[in-house]
Parts: sequence; C-alpha cells; structure tokens
Amino acid sequence: MNQQEKQELKKIIEAEIKALSDEIENIQTALKPIKKDCSLDSIDHKMLKQDQNINIQRYEVAKVRLNRLKAAYLNLDNSDYGVCKECEEDINFERLKLIPESKYCVSCMNELGL
Ligand SMILES: [Zn+2]
Repeated sequence: MNQQEKQELKKIIEAEIKALSDEIENIQTALKPIKKDCSLDSIDHKMLKQDQNINIQRYEVAKVRLNRLKAAYLNLDNSDYGVCKECEEDINFERLKLIPESKYCVSCMNELGL
C-alpha cells in the first residue's frame, strides 16, 4: 500500500468513526428509559419495548465496529496493516476501503468460514 492509499484509508476510517459515534449518540438518546406514561396502553408499551431491543442491538453492533475501526486506525502505520493474517498476502485495497478493519483477504475469509 502506498502513502496515497494510506491517506485515503485514513480519511475513510475517520469519516466512519465520526458517523458511528454520531449513531451511537443517537441510539443512546433513544435508549433513555421508557417513562411510565398513562396515555400509553399495553400494546404501545410493547412496541416501545421492541424498539428498545432493536436499538440495543444496533448499539452493540455499532460499538463493536467502532472499536475495530479505532484499532485499524491506530494500526494503519504498522507494516502488518492491510496484510492478511492467514496467507500474508496484501489485502485488496478496494476491500480495505469498504472494510478498513479487515484482517483477512477474501479467499482466506471464505476458507476460514468467517
Ligand atoms: Zn489471505
């Protein structure tokens, strides 16, 4: 990977981190405890609970991805960044642009069943 590609990835990761942080913040706001509201009947309350569960799942997924992206960002200047952990070939740059936290190339990922 050349310097220019690295810079490009850096920008992509920064933008993703920003977007995920915003999303996490939004979900956190949405996750405020459900107030006991007398105007809600039990069906409304059930639906609110379902929304909460979906939000909790989204929150967990976003947090895991955020941590991976942060790790990738810190790792960007290391020589092993962008190198497949399995076959030690360079990971396709287009793939890194989509999933900057990739640790494996596509063929190894398929082989490992990841
Ligand atoms: Zn590989």
